[in-house]
Order: sequence, then C-alpha cells, then structure tokens
Amino acid sequence: MISKIAFDGFVLSDELKMLQKMVRNFIRDEVIPLEEDLDFDATHLPKDKLELLQEKAKRAGLYQFNAPKKFGGQELSIFARTIIAEEASQHKLGAYNPGLGAFGQSPPDILYDGTKEQVEKYVYPTIEGKLSGFIAITEPSGGSDPARSIRTRAEKRGDKWVLNGQKVFISGADTADYGIVFARTGEGRKGITAFIVEKGMEGFSHALIPVIRPWYPCELFLDNVEVPEENVLGEVGHGFDFVQKWLIGNRIPYAAGCIGLAVAALKKAIEYANIRETFGSKLADKQAIQWMIADSEIELRAARWLTYEAAWKADLGENARYEASAAKLYATEAAGRIIDRVIQIFGGMGLAKEMPFERWYRELRIKRVGEGPSEVHRMVISRDLLSGKRKI
Ligand SMILES: Cc1cc2nc3c(=O)[nH]c(=O)nc-3n(C[C@H](O)[C@H](O)[C@H](O)COP(=O)(O)OP(=O)(O)OC[C@H]3O[C@@H](n4cnc5c(N)ncnc54)[C@H](O)[C@@H]3O)c2cc1C
Repeated sequence: MISKIAFDGFVLSDELKMLQKMVRNFIRDEVIPLEEDLDFDATHLPKDKLELLQEKAKRAGLYQFNAPKKFGGQELSIFARTIIAEEASQHKLGAYNPGLGAFGQSPPDILYDGTKEQVEKYVYPTIEGKLSGFIAITEPSGGSDPARSIRTRAEKRGDKWVLNGQKVFISGADTADYGIVFARTGEGRKGITAFIVEKGMEGFSHALIPVIRPWYPCELFLDNVEVPEENVLGEVGHGFDFVQKWLIGNRIPYAAGCIGLAVAALKKAIEYANIRETFGSKLADKQAIQWMIADSEIELRAARWLTYEAAWKADLGENARYEASAAKLYATEAAGRIIDRVIQIFGGMGLAKEMPFERWYRELRIKRVGEGPSEVHRMVISRDLLSGKRKI
C-alpha cells in the first residue's frame, strides 16, 4: 500500500529526452565545429554560414521552437524550451547566441498579440529571418523599476504620436529593423504605452555602448520621432502589462541558458582534473578540487530543479512570477560561481582565450543585472513571504 504514495516525478518524458538529445547532438556536430573559424570574441556567424546552418536545423525539425503554430512555429511548452535552452548554450558563443542562431529567430513575444497588420508587417518577416527587432525599456533614469523610471514621452498630435527621450543598454538595436519602445503617455503603471518604432524613422538614432561582453548594446535617441497610430502595440496605457508578461516568460529559459554554460564548464573541469598533475598526483586527488566539483554539481542541480519548477508552473497557466524570480536569481548566481571555480581548477589556462571560460565569466556577470538585477528578484520573493502571500 505504501508504494501508492510514492512520488513519480523527477524524470523527463521520453519525448523531452529525445528533444534534449537531438539539440545536444546538433550543437556538438554542427555548431561547435563552425566556431573554430570564428574570432574568440565573435558574436555572430557570417550570413551565408548561418543560412546553411538554419537549413540543417530545419531538416532536423529543430526550427522555430517558440513561435505559435499559426505563425509557422512549433509552439513548444516553456518546459521544452527550458530543456532546449540548457543544451543550446553549451558552446563558445552560446551565452548570447544559442546555437549560433540555427534554430531561427523570433520577434519580441509581445508582437504576437499585435493587430493583423502588425503581425503581417513584423511577425512573419521576422520569423522568416528578413527582419529583426529589439525591446527598449531601460532608460538613463533606471531599468530595475521601469514603471517609475520611464521618462520617454509620447504625445498625440493629430493621427500621429510624437516620441521624445532616450533609452540605454538596448540589445540588438544596432542591427535591428524595428523595435518595441515603451514610452510614457500618462502617469504611473497605467501610463506606459508600447510603440513599434522603425529604424529609418526621422529623429531616431543609436550609438553603441561598449560593455564587458563582446556583443554591445545601444543607446537610443528619440528626437520628435513621429510614429503612426497603427504602430501602437496593444492599448494605450497598457504597455506595462506587456513588460511584465515578456519579462516573466523570458526569465525561465534565460536561467536554463546559464545552467547550460555551467554544465559545459564543469564537464571540462572534471576531464582536466583527471589528467592534470601537481605535487605528484592528479588534481582529482586533491580534496580542495573535489569540493569545488561537488559544490558546483549540487548548485547546478538546485538551479535546474528551480528552473524546471518555474517552467512547469508557467505551463500550467499559473502565475509563475515568484518561481521565475527564484530560478533566474539562483541560476545566474550559481553559474557565475561555477565558472569561477572552473577557472581556478584550470589555473592559467582557465584565463586564456584559447578556452571559453573567461568569455563565459564576463558574459555571465551581465546575467545578474539583465532581466532584473538579483536584488530585485530577492525583493519579489521576500515581499511575497513577508506579506503572507506566500507560505514557506
Ligand atoms: C548588456 C546589457 C544588455 C541589456 N539589454 C537590454 C535590452 O535589450 N532592453 C532593455 O530594455 N534593457 C536592457 N538592459 C538593461 C537592464 O535590463 C538594466 O541594466 C537592468 O534592468 C538594471 O537597470 P539599471 O542598469 O538602470 O540599474 P538601476 O535600476 O539603476 O539599479 C542599480 C542597482 O541597484 C540595485 N537595486 C535596484 N533595485 C533594488 C532594490 N529594490 N533593492 C536593492 N537593490 C536594488 C541593483 O543592484 C541594481 O543593479 C541591458 C543591460 C545590459 C548590461
């Protein structure tokens, strides 16, 4: 009788295991060999090579995982995308360009809710790889608390909106064709509206902001940019609902991508510890190294289960904000600690550009600030606990 109450979780379905294996093999066989010809700090594959790689991914059935079926995508669950994200990041450029782009690009998710015309104009061409978009929330006045800090203003003049302001740290804006710009049309949370701004619009310009990762974000300047009424995304005053939806949905695969980097690094550290000798014995025989490996494995597992839980809950259609915060916070911080230990195990080689670790170390540092800094996620979790909304 006791066996009836046994928990039957903690195993991936055969379908998920197969997907995991297919992506893992694709990264090993198709993606990693292409990186050998790229500069250490390269951020993207040349266009011709990317097209060939995408053809291979399409033939393998590994294309457009995110997009809804009605737009030609596979509409996979967040859980499946989490499994994919962990595998797809496990290569040199994987932190910010998983699979080197093999699996296709998606428009910013919030565009799927756009009007028929917006979908025709931006969603389909983005899925086909003809256009790309960015998301611009953060401003010089702050990014952690966008509901209060957005100062870019949009004013209605006739049948147009006129945008004035500045955005900072916007990823992909230098190469994108359009972007979703969040601007103030009123006061407070209900005073933010999302606009689709196109690159060629008069008064709109950008400049790169050099940062710790090789893929630089941009500063955007909006100087009396006239945006037609049909480029308002969703309802006026409801832009912040989009911000919330986008951020929560993104955080779970974001956490999984960081776990993937840590998995790849730890595997290499284990191999190295088993061959490298100091003081007459292998590194693997030293307790200091054994403990670094054990601590890293435990943190990896903890991060993975937190991320799986968040994905599972989000797929049930429940509010997974709390779980997504816990997963994002823990996975980004744990992955940072693991790469740091791996560098230590490799010694000088850990810091050499011949190995991917110093690159991943720099890139992972950003992940504790992007998609909400760690402190904001701690605030979300503790706020729910202290108010009694969540019980331990
Ligand atoms: C490489 C890169 C790419 C980015 N890409 C994009 C993008 O594509 N689109 C976009 O809109 N933004 C993007 N960002 C911006 C990013 O989202 C913001 O940097 C982030 O939200 C933090 O905002 P902030 O930098 O203005 O810091 P602030 O909001 O000024 O916060 C500064 C620090 O204060 C602390 N802090 C904040 N709130 C609290 C609190 N409640 N309690 C305790 N401490 C707190 C945190 O340590 C935080 O790091 C990117 C940033 C980087 C670095």
